Amino acid sequence: MGGVRRVRGLGCFCQKGASALALAASAFFVFAGSAWGAAYPSTGPASAGQVRTHAPAPLPTGAIRPYAKGGVTDAGNKALVGSQAKLKSLSGIAPGTVIDAAQIDFEDVDKYFMWWDIEEGDNLFSRINGKSYQKNDVVPVSSLKYLKLPHYNFDGQIQVGELVVGADVKDDFLNIFKELFLAQYQIQSMYLVDNYWVGNGTDTDSASIDENNTSAFCFRAATASENLSWHAYGRAIDINPQQNPYVSYANGTPQWSHENANGYIDRDTGLPHVITTEDLAYQTFLKYGFIWGGELGTVRDYQHFAKPIETP
Ligand SMILES: [Zn+2]
Repeated sequence: MGGVRRVRGLGCFCQKGASALALAASAFFVFAGSAWGAAYPSTGPASAGQVRTHAPAPLPTGAIRPYAKGGVTDAGNKALVGSQAKLKSLSGIAPGTVIDAAQIDFEDVDKYFMWWDIEEGDNLFSRINGKSYQKNDVVPVSSLKYLKLPHYNFDGQIQVGELVVGADVKDDFLNIFKELFLAQYQIQSMYLVDNYWVGNGTDTDSASIDENNTSAFCFRAATASENLSWHAYGRAIDINPQQNPYVSYANGTPQWSHENANGYIDRDTGLPHVITTEDLAYQTFLKYGFIWGGELGTVRDYQHFAKPIETP
């Protein structure tokens, strides 16, 4: 995703403590056949063992620590991909890799829902530093965790996903995605936004949305605001953003910024992957105390679930 964006794209601006209306008034426009949209899908279905585009290099072991709950980090695990053996974990297997369902131990899927610390100097830190992670006084890297987990893609295949989330909500995310996985809930892709980096958080978020990528952490202020997005704390996630766009109704007619969402402004179509209150993702995130951006009023951020920090 190295191309220069001619249009400053809009992503997900949900934030704390500021008027969403003010954001919408200052920042929204509607596409009219601009040249840079319609990139989706940029990659075809991958087959088992293949890695989709945007997959980062495999994480070397040693610089990261395993999830204590059954996760193993031996590099030999990677060699099992494509064989008939059950995988012991997702260690060593690159995000984007499609895994044959026969290799998943459905009797004990906990071992596939893994997390790692991120520490200055390790390979995870190097990957996000200066991109989704910016040096700041509010969100130390020690407050973030790296997650790797399986999800079903839009072709019904099991695919490896990754997220960076806040440490104190990592268990929520792991539990939620375990429930969604067992229900075969489909997510097109789940890569760190760093895979789409184009120089700043807002445009990178836009590029990730254009690829219908699901992501959580990105240290950035909400547009037209000095307030940080909940994404900056790793406490928010955007799910299948193409089918679940950010739409403003502030002017009386819907306005949105991503052309790939043109068919998803009407929320009553019954199309696959459209999040409504009947959707399993909605129900699962709310069960774990998250709020949904699709209920914000004149601004509806249908892709967005957040768990704000509780204030006394
Ligand atoms: Zn969001």
